[in-house]
Amino acid sequence: MVIVMRKQATDEEINNVIQWIESVGYQTHPSRGVEQTIIGVVGDDRGKAQLKSVEYLPGVEKAVPILKPYKLASREARTGNTIVQVGNIEIGGPEFIVMAGPCTIESDEQLMESAYIIKKGGAHILRGGAYKPRTSPYSFQGLEEEGLRMLKKVRDKMEVPVVTEVMNTTEVELVEENCDILQIGTRNVQNFPLLKKVGQTRKPVLLKRGMMTTIEELLMSAEYILAEGNDQVILCERGIRTFETATRNTLDLSAIPVLKERTHLPVIVDPSHATGHWKYVLPLSKAAMAVGADGLIIEVHPQPEKALCDGAQSLKPEKFYQLMEELRMLQGALRKATGVLQ
Ligand code: PEP
Ligand code: MN
Repeated sequence: MVIVMRKQATDEEINNVIQWIESVGYQTHPSRGVEQTIIGVVGDDRGKAQLKSVEYLPGVEKAVPILKPYKLASREARTGNTIVQVGNIEIGGPEFIVMAGPCTIESDEQLMESAYIIKKGGAHILRGGAYKPRTSPYSFQGLEEEGLRMLKKVRDKMEVPVVTEVMNTTEVELVEENCDILQIGTRNVQNFPLLKKVGQTRKPVLLKRGMMTTIEELLMSAEYILAEGNDQVILCERGIRTFETATRNTLDLSAIPVLKERTHLPVIVDPSHATGHWKYVLPLSKAAMAVGADGLIIEVHPQPEKALCDGAQSLKPEKFYQLMEELRMLQGALRKATGVLQ
């Protein structure tokens, strides 16, 4: 349910309403807009009738049920878009944000070089996995704690925020200490204990769509994180399984406008895992921008032919610079076409 406060409601009235809702056993998630405050309310469905009497409290305009199964993630629960703040970078704001770097952290040198490349190209955030979810137990599994140490070192030295995957509830604290954004990979999108655990942190979470989850299921997974009190969630479309085998997965570009309509959370696209081949990363990155995504996460490696993981889909530095240049030109053209001034 969403409690819409009157435009003239005072802070005292808002706090009073919050206190009353909590006293009857519900959690509140207030969203203070410039003009009006709305309060998202979640909890056990059985007490809904009692909750409706909140409408008698001073300052309340109306109480509206949210019909979607995801409540806090739905557009109704918020005024405006959620902007995820990472230092002075805003994900979900007017700027198109690029996260780039190797699939996996391999050495201090490889990561340092990657950071240099992605910064030179104008990307905002460095990616790199220390814990890797691999289909085969015989594939390289990541440098784990040592990789996290390397990540932190490069982050501090190069002053670049970093995103890295966490696969296990027991590792959340360790990963959290060494990164700026916690990534939940496609395979863990419905690992509910893990979603709850990252929901209890106050770190932004990059939640990747499962390769076989629907848009609604993705939003329900986001809801697990939001319900724990962490509203800094970025959604990521990274391709889904279809009958098509020419690409690693099928990039569901329609997911972006659909998500934008249904949720206030930022949405980014991963064209690297979606296609599995560097050649398709450029056109699909531009498509992602054109269709309204808030940014990208892409794999870039100083020497893709030597990569320990996902070399075939990683961009060489030159291709990455070309992509960034093309994105800048496309953004200019789109802004002109839609009348948005820079
Ligand atoms: C990754 O980003 O390195 C990764 C493993 O992605 P996904 O979970 O989308 O396969
Ligand atoms: Mn990868």
